[in-house]
Amino acid sequence: MPFPTGIRALLALAVAGLAALASFLLNGDAQASLVVLVCGVAAVLLALGNRDAVAAPSEPAAPQRDGPPLAEAIEAIAEPVLVIAANRVRSANRAARALLGQHILGEDVRLAIRHPAAAERLLNPEEGTPGAPIHLVGLGTREQRWEMRVRDVENQRIVHLSDRTGSYAAERMRVDFVANASHELRTPLASLLGYVETLREDAGDDAPTRNRFLKIMHDEARRMQRLIEDLISLSRIEAEKYRAPDQTVDLAVLIEEVRVELASEGKRAGDIVAEIAEVPPVRGDRVQLSQLLHNVIGNAMKYGRESTPVTIRLRPGNDGMVQLSVADEGDGIPATHLPRLTERFYRVDSGRSRSIGGTGLGLAIVKHVVERHRGRLDIASTVGKGTTVTILLPMQRTA
Ligand code: ADP
Repeated sequence: MPFPTGIRALLALAVAGLAALASFLLNGDAQASLVVLVCGVAAVLLALGNRDAVAAPSEPAAPQRDGPPLAEAIEAIAEPVLVIAANRVRSANRAARALLGQHILGEDVRLAIRHPAAAERLLNPEEGTPGAPIHLVGLGTREQRWEMRVRDVENQRIVHLSDRTGSYAAERMRVDFVANASHELRTPLASLLGYVETLREDAGDDAPTRNRFLKIMHDEARRMQRLIEDLISLSRIEAEKYRAPDQTVDLAVLIEEVRVELASEGKRAGDIVAEIAEVPPVRGDRVQLSQLLHNVIGNAMKYGRESTPVTIRLRPGNDGMVQLSVADEGDGIPATHLPRLTERFYRVDSGRSRSIGGTGLGLAIVKHVVERHRGRLDIASTVGKGTTVTILLPMQRTA
């Protein structure tokens, strides 16, 4: 059983004392006994001193390594990770093998990550800020963007790749959006200022010219107003994206209301044919669904041919959905444009859209409203025949 150092010292001293006493009793020689006692005590003190010397750590202890080996540990990481030693790939997790190829194990790192900037950093780690990420474009597919970080661990180099394609695209969208919105506002504003200037100078005296200019100014101001209203709507809908709508909305009633509103705005609402079947109400946001109808029916009227009908159909769909479709008999949209129609400010024919008062935000708003309602949106079109926009919205569940 191990004794603490203090107790061991006392025991040793006691043994030394007993040895000295025994020596005195056996020999009757006090001097010899004293020598035995002194030697015993010295031995004890030496032993203690040595023990301390052995116990004193000469260097900090190396950290204890436990847990799985590196190759196994990196396998648990979802993003690509490689371990490089002597400029060769020592191990690579599943994501790295999927990105760079199964063959990379044991390969020269320059061949494994075929990217000049990556090779530069891996072969000359002392250049550049240590730990700072470098950006790689075109690794994997041409559009993909990666961030690569390198860390040295003993004689190995850990390479971590993070996919930044999504955040890059979001950032690009944000920048493009601000640039597009500014441009859309700047054009009518420049026109307004131009006419104000002309009126102030001389054209103000001539009544017909003045009235013509005022009409243009009014239209430009209205265009700016519509754009600002659409921008506000879009940001409101986006802000509420994660809050499920909670009103009970009868789409048949709403369609009729929108039809009357469009007619009162002077649009050719008489050409609307409504085929309304009996459907249960949907759980929705009334204002947003009304705006959705305005935009889709409004587009069918704007882009449909003169004196052709716009047909609105409402019927029960599959999987607990209500199906709404709006069909026109316009020029249609070429297939290449279809996937981009819901992007903000995307127009097939910018001149035409602007001349009929389009903001380029109508279908982006529709898409966001449908998403908030957990619905689905489909746009089908045949050039020369027309376009049908179909929207599926979940029926309200009865508790
Ligand atoms: P806009 O305000 O320009 O109408 P939208 O976002 O509503 O913007 O629509 C985007 C573009 O999609 C339009 O500019 C137009 O080119 C095209 N588009 C939308 N609806 C139709 C349709 N029913 N028929 C033909 N083209 C359409």
